[in-house]
Order: sequence, then C-alpha cells, then structure tokens
Amino acid sequence: MSDDLTRHTAAGLSGLLSSGEVSAVEVTRAHLDRITAVDGDLNAFLHVAGEKALADAAAVDAARAAGEQLGALAGVPIAVKDVMTTEGLPTTAGSKILEGWVPPYDATVVRRLKEGRLVVLGKTNMDEFAMGSSTEHSAYGPTRNPWDRDRIPGGSGGGSAAALAAFEAPLATGTDTGGSIRQPASVTGTVGVKPTYGAVSRYGLIAMASSLDQAGPCARTVLDAALLHQVMAGHDPLDSTSLTGDYPDVVAAAQDGAKNGIAGLRVGVIRELHGGDGSGYQAGVLARFDEALALLTKAGAEIVEVSCPSFTAALPAYYLIMPSEASSNLAKFDAMRYGLRVGPKGVDAPSAEQVMAATRAAGFGDEVKRRIILGTYALSSGYYDAYYGSAQKVRTLIQRDFTAAFAQADVLVSPTSPTTAFPLGAKLDDPLSMYLQDVATIPANLAGIPGMSLPSGLADEDGLPAGIQLLAPAQADDRLYRVGAALEALLVESWGSALLDKAPNLLEATR
Ligand code: GLN
Repeated sequence: MSDDLTRHTAAGLSGLLSSGEVSAVEVTRAHLDRITAVDGDLNAFLHVAGEKALADAAAVDAARAAGEQLGALAGVPIAVKDVMTTEGLPTTAGSKILEGWVPPYDATVVRRLKEGRLVVLGKTNMDEFAMGSSTEHSAYGPTRNPWDRDRIPGGSGGGSAAALAAFEAPLATGTDTGGSIRQPASVTGTVGVKPTYGAVSRYGLIAMASSLDQAGPCARTVLDAALLHQVMAGHDPLDSTSLTGDYPDVVAAAQDGAKNGIAGLRVGVIRELHGGDGSGYQAGVLARFDEALALLTKAGAEIVEVSCPSFTAALPAYYLIMPSEASSNLAKFDAMRYGLRVGPKGVDAPSAEQVMAATRAAGFGDEVKRRIILGTYALSSGYYDAYYGSAQKVRTLIQRDFTAAFAQADVLVSPTSPTTAFPLGAKLDDPLSMYLQDVATIPANLAGIPGMSLPSGLADEDGLPAGIQLLAPAQADDRLYRVGAALEALLVESWGSALLDKAPNLLEATR
C-alpha cells in the first residue's frame, strides 16, 4: 500500500479511516494538496472548497471519536460535477449565464453524500449545461486529460474523470444524458456508471433533457463505483420519475462478482456497435474489446452475437429529443431569476424581452445556442410530428431491440466510445464528429437502462485508455457490478496491475 493517500481506492481509504490508521482531515488535506499541485494545469475543478472540506473532515473525525455509527464512505473525499446544486457553493453548469450563482439548496444527490458524511472537495468542470463530449464547451476553459495534457478528457463530465485519473479525488459524481459519465471514463481509464433511469434523484440537477438525464458514480474501480452508487441511489419524493420499490444491493454484487466470477453468463455482443470497415471505430479500441471478450470466454462466459437494427437511428433520434427538451429546460435562464443580467447596448429603458435577449446572447455559448435553435425548430407547429414525434417512435424501437437482445443474453457489451482521447481542438469545428463519440452510449439513455464503462486496456496506436461498455436490463444495475467486477479482476490479472498504474506520467513529469 502506498504512503500517498491520494493513490488509495475509496474502499481502501474507508478501511484506513474506520480502523483509525488515518484521519479524515489527513485524507482530505492530501487531496487538497494534490489539487493545488496539479490543477492549475489540468483545470478539472471550477471551485475548490478547501476550508469547508477540512471542517467537514474534522467533524467526521470527531463523530468517529465519539463512537457514532458512520457509513462506509464517511470521511472519503469526493468531487461533485458542477451541474449539481450545492448549498453555499457556486454552481455554474459550466455556463457564463450562472457565473457567481450560489444555490440556496442541495441537490438530493448532494444531500445523500452529506448524510453519508463524504467530504465534498469542490465542483468539477464540464461542457456548458452538459452539452458535449470533450469539456471544451465549458465557459471556463477546457479540462486536460492527465494521460496526455494536449488531449480531451471526454465530456461532458471531463472534470470529474480527469480529477480521478490525476488522483485529485478518489470518487466523483457525474450525469449522463447520452454518455457524459461513460465516455469520459473510457478516455481517462476510469470507471463510470449510468444507473437505471429513476434510480438516482434528478432533484437539484440542472436539467438538460429530463427524460434522459441520470446521475451516477465515477470512480477508479468497480467496487468504489458500487459503494458510491449505493449512497447516491434511492427513492426521492421530490423527483416524480424516481423509482419506488426495492433497489438492488450493488456493493454485494460487486464483491460477489470479484470473488465468484461469471461462469455460465451469456454475454451479447451488439453487432451494430462493433465497428467494421469505415465505421469510425479505432483499431486499438476494437482490439482491447476483443481481448476482453476472450477473457470472459476463458472465465466460462458464453459469447453470443445480438442484433439491434434500430440503433443506427439512435443518434439522430437523440439529437431531436435532447435539444427539444433542452430548449424548454433552458427557457428559465431569463435574466430575471438567477445569474447573469445584461442590458442591451444603447437602450435607455429596455423591455424585459430586450434584457432577456441580450442576456441569453451574452450568457450562452455557441453549442448551447445551436441546441436551443434545433430544439425550438423541432418542436414548432407543423414540424412536431415529423421530427419530435418520429424520434419518439425510434425510441420505442430501441426499447424493443433491447428487450429482444436481453432475451438472448444476460448483459450486452460494446466498446464505450469509438476512439481514445482526441487532441484538444480536433472536433470543435465539426459538431457531427463530436456527436459520434456517443454512438454506443446513447441507446441506453433512450431506453432508460443502466450502463457501465470500465477500462479495457491501452490502444496500441497511441498508448491511451480504451473502454468497454456493459449494459443490463432496467433495474438490474447489480448485474453490471457483478460482471464489471469479475471482468476488472480478469483484466488486472492479465495486465499485472491496475490500468492507472501504467499511466506514463499522469502529471508527475514536468513539461
Ligand atoms: N455528448 C452528449 C451530448 O453532447 C451527451 C452529453 C451528456 O450525456 N450530458 O449531448
């Protein structure tokens, strides 16, 4: 075990904290020092809550000393994506329009973290309103990938993923509307999970597309993701789409998978998400994916091929439904209620409408404006049936394809993202190629099912991390953790150590 507290897993820290070998203050200080040392270059954090974090950590230490019963992650630090409201801490969703806004309340997810006595280190960078796959659409500058600082860390949750990969935090939160937890995990060599829609409350998440948005855990190991998932998930009366009834025990599932393996499991490879010539899937990503399948076969799983023909229409359907919902959700940024207010130039007594227009023109970035225009167009009368209506029909077909596929297989797999991390700036002028990053992740959001990305290895071409995606039926999140933990154990055994230990510098080297 390393002396450096930032190198431990959350599960490891949990053990050290509960045995009293280290204090929450020591663990928190180590991570804050790490942030000070590397984040100037990385820009994973938009706001660091240093003093508050140390005070919260001290309170956890005091509670432990007083013999209070504490949760498994009490005293473990966490980074929170800036799309979640945090009482007393700035929350911008990566947008200028919310610069300086300090919410008066916590998102339910954040409240649950606090009840579990996790220590919030700060807020992480993201594409503006979670629109993007590179974090370059943040109004506060891009985050850099710790594996190669000239490359993107994925998006929209690139800040959370980079913070994990650079050992600035052992845990982080994310939100995934079309892939924003899983794709950043894939390109940074970390683990990310989009739970079943409705498993984690959306109350207090700044909404992008309400029927697709889902918060979930980001971590460096499958067990750590499970520990965080268990804290985040649960019914919330404040969210009308929150699931009721029993939630699966994902921690027990991860532990069971790592110990007992997956013999007899049927793994379905989705034909439409497995590359082929000219498909845009990078050779090294496919090679690592095929190796992971070989490991699963060796461990006793049965690999079957499944077909989901409607998936070819998933991306276009997403880019109608998401902007439609986003254009409506973003209407509330009207200069009257929160954040920025800009008066139109040269107008003495501007009308409310003129102030709204000037504020939205100044406060929203290009990608956000593009989606508002797309969404209002798709919803306008005369076009509604042709665009939004058709996209909703595609959504039904995707759900049916998943149902048929899950009749043949217990879990479905694909590469998470077609490529490894691309260079900063490479896709900024080409929105369509940016959108294609999510071709394999979007179907799960359209169907509401859970998905996980875990590292599958390093691509030969560039030595950068690739990811494998696991998908399970709705409310079978535990299945993802069982299979994910088993696969992770097989991969680590075959690599000889965890993937992040193989990183060439992760900011250690000066440049
Ligand atoms: N990259 C996708 C988009 O730009 C997904 C974003 C997300 O999941 N929030 O819409």
